Amino acid sequence: MKVYFLGTGTSQGIPVIGSSHPVCHSKDPKDKRLRVSVWIAWENASVMIDCGPDFRQQMLTCGCERIDAFFFTHEHSDHTAGLDDIRPFNFRQGPIPLYAHSRVIKNLEQRYDYIFETENKYPGAPSVEVHEVRNEPFIFAGKEIIPINAFHGTLQVFGYRIDDFAYLTDVKTIAVDEIEKLKGVKVLVINALRIEPHDTHFNLQEALDFAALIHPERTYLTHISHMFGFHEAVQETLPDDVFLAYDNLEIHI
Ligand SMILES: [Zn+2]
Repeated sequence: MKVYFLGTGTSQGIPVIGSSHPVCHSKDPKDKRLRVSVWIAWENASVMIDCGPDFRQQMLTCGCERIDAFFFTHEHSDHTAGLDDIRPFNFRQGPIPLYAHSRVIKNLEQRYDYIFETENKYPGAPSVEVHEVRNEPFIFAGKEIIPINAFHGTLQVFGYRIDDFAYLTDVKTIAVDEIEKLKGVKVLVINALRIEPHDTHFNLQEALDFAALIHPERTYLTHISHMFGFHEAVQETLPDDVFLAYDNLEIHI
């Protein structure tokens, strides 16, 4: 299985528009972070977790030619605002399966009414085939996909486990039963916004504590704010098995 980090930044991305913060002016490509998303591919499948506002740019960079499904974590714009740009895939492939919590589906139906239109739909509009995700495993392209229920402040979010890989973002709290589902994971991706605490996101310490409960071989941190610091400097402070993810990083599991 291949996991490609399409974006590793928090909601504004890095650089932040108009910011004078030194990280926003860094020349290190690892300090440029688009909005958070991953591309996961295995023998017969190519899946995106989330579809943020940088989706078009991410697709042009990563060279993805086919998308078999989108799995959504939650409805916030930094995870969904690229939906209009799936059209080139639709024109080649037809409607694309979209997996999400029923609340997220409802939200997308309101915000992107033209995508979900059933009468007189504009022929060039994006098209999706909706699948509701409940907090129970489902099979996709021969693999068991295990949703992991967590909370982003008071908002429910889903992470996803596929084999020995798990991806969770925008997590602040997670129940013990859900952590159980992550046991045995070899590669964990988890959000870590910055050093300072935040109301709705894990900070670094919370992410490290969470990783310690799961004991993966490797942990990658994502959904990173410019306030976390320079990539290189932060990486030096991390334990040997914990890595700051960066845009266009590709790992194999
Ligand atoms: Zn987010």
